[in-house]
Amino acid sequence: MIDIRQSSLNIGTLGHIDHGKTSLTRAITHTWTDRHSESLKRNMTIKLGYADAIIRKCQKCDPPSCYTTDETCRNCAGKAEPLMRISMLDAPGHETLMATALAGSSVIDALLFVIAANEPCPMQQTKEHLMIMNLLGIKDVLIIQSKVDIVGKEGALKHYKQIKEFIKGSSIENAPIIPVMTNQGVNIDAVLEMIAKLPKPERDLSSQPIMYVVRSFDINKPGSNLAKFSGGVVGGVIKKGVLKVGDKIELRPGANFSEPGSKKQSYKNIVTVITDISNGTDKMEEARPGGLIGISTEIDPAFVKADGLVGNLVGHVGSLPEVSTTLMLQYHSIDRKDIPTQRLKENEPLLMEIGTKTVLGYVKTIKKDTVEIELRMPVCAEKKTRAAVLRNISQRWRLTGYGIIE
Ligand code: ZN
Repeated sequence: MIDIRQSSLNIGTLGHIDHGKTSLTRAITHTWTDRHSESLKRNMTIKLGYADAIIRKCQKCDPPSCYTTDETCRNCAGKAEPLMRISMLDAPGHETLMATALAGSSVIDALLFVIAANEPCPMQQTKEHLMIMNLLGIKDVLIIQSKVDIVGKEGALKHYKQIKEFIKGSSIENAPIIPVMTNQGVNIDAVLEMIAKLPKPERDLSSQPIMYVVRSFDINKPGSNLAKFSGGVVGGVIKKGVLKVGDKIELRPGANFSEPGSKKQSYKNIVTVITDISNGTDKMEEARPGGLIGISTEIDPAFVKADGLVGNLVGHVGSLPEVSTTLMLQYHSIDRKDIPTQRLKENEPLLMEIGTKTVLGYVKTIKKDTVEIELRMPVCAEKKTRAAVLRNISQRWRLTGYGIIE
């Protein structure tokens, strides 16, 4: 019996703006909605979009076997048997997408790299995405050649050669290139088949659990009966270990407990109990790495509402890294054609994405490549993880590098 309650693969999407990432994701999941509101963008909060799909395969039509995320086969209308659950994730905008890929690389297993056939390859953002992939060393990449319906067979072949030339010598040199027409659903089955054949990542189930909180919310309706009041829910991605119903857990850095109106921050960890675990549709006794997991707790709903706990780490009590407002980073700049490479300056403001936390900081000291950063709010981060670093250039936050946390 295949367990499809938890995702086997977390799949990120990269690609130049308007090359069809969203429509590809929608063609795969059927449920994708753009959750990235303008207010979130203004708040500089990087909010991951998430949607699950179950890849199924018809057992009757063989050959060719048809892969689908529907319950019935498109060819014979027979029942399609489930193979695996996958989670698709996405981030809004070019800078945040790259920052998320960098900071979230520890929870991304595979990437779909979307390149549209109706524009010459490579476009600027496409080049930058290849650079990020080279940097991360994610090997399981499928190149999706989108919009082939616009250019016809000749155009698609010409464009295919451009892609081959572009990826030559890179870490994804041998990645398969799959032409698709997402609007007509053409070749989506081939994409699903290739995804299903990607190697399943080894999951670390024996370490102390660590979950990155991606969202948090209050499930109580206004005016609900106090006796039936539910504690806050935190949704996130488990990086390692297993969380079980009944586990006593801690969230770090926790929440700001200062008095309303007070300018002084007073962050305190939160200790609570897991009362329920869900994958969004089914309840589970335990959760391991793979996909987005919702954990019901006894946390005061006031703290979880409106994603108030995003960026926290969840683990067993006492097992999480120390919380700090200063960070030591080994800084590495990345090569951006349109941004002049300049050394970091003391007192310069930086926007950083650390795990799923977006936080503002200031450069305190610089010694060679080791940068000390004073943060506006405390973070809980594992050592050796990668933080994305954005600098304010011409009034915009631009990704200029990353830092390994010391
Ligand atoms: Zn069939």
